[in-house]
Amino acid sequence: MSNFKMKYEIVPRYLSGPSKRRPCIPMQSVIFMVAHDTGNPGSTASGNVGYYENSRNDMEASAQIFVDDKQIIECIPFLTDAPEKAWHVIYNVTTDNQRYGADANDAAGGVELCYGGNVNLTEAYKRYVWVLAYSCWKYALDPAQAITGHHILDPKRKTDPMNALKLLGKTFDNLIADVVLEYNECMEEDDMSKEIEELKGKFQTLLNTADVHIKKINDLEAKASMSVPDWAKDAVTSAVSKGLIDTPEGRSYDFYSLLAVFHRKGLI
Ligand SMILES: [Zn+2]
Repeated sequence: MSNFKMKYEIVPRYLSGPSKRRPCIPMQSVIFMVAHDTGNPGSTASGNVGYYENSRNDMEASAQIFVDDKQIIECIPFLTDAPEKAWHVIYNVTTDNQRYGADANDAAGGVELCYGGNVNLTEAYKRYVWVLAYSCWKYALDPAQAITGHHILDPKRKTDPMNALKLLGKTFDNLIADVVLEYNECMEEDDMSKEIEELKGKFQTLLNTADVHIKKINDLEAKASMSVPDWAKDAVTSAVSKGLIDTPEGRSYDFYSLLAVFHRKGLI
């Protein structure tokens, strides 16, 4: 399996459970994602999770992940551990069943975008888009199809995540397009780094091959011009004394071999 670029850290800060907000029920399968915003301008990821923890036995509403401009906090396991259910879309809407064949609470991760107040929405949105893309990668979902909005599933009661998106001048389709782009980028970077690794390997093989050739050439050159080897000294002395050669040093391996053979045969 390939890797996904981990641009941001996902901080696990699990709610105590079993509690109303975190029932500690495993999700059997993850089929889609629901995009939310907090509907509470100025609240931060940390602030929301703190509030959830304090009110964990009072209310059921929950979501797995909160995102602001500084942090991605997971308060119910979804990406940092085996996924658990959160109560983020009421059961009696049928839009989720019609589109995905399951209730959002049972088969979808819920991601909440923080906005307003001191939250830098552009930065928060980058993290929101990335964590949605990463969720799709993690659960092998098609980012173009698998993300819906709370406002789409429960149009009579809910407007999120459009409260936040409108502040950015984004439509819901813009969000999906941004997630698809992010998904592809985080995958492509991985493909590129793999290609670079492959090229490095090929280059190393080439260098090794070149080393072998250079060694062979050096050996050949050494043999083409060498000093008199011990085994040819007698033959060389004899040939010099008979005036057969003037320059005994720096001749080739083959030259000395031939002289040695002649000498052994008594020819020189
Ligand atoms: Zn919502």
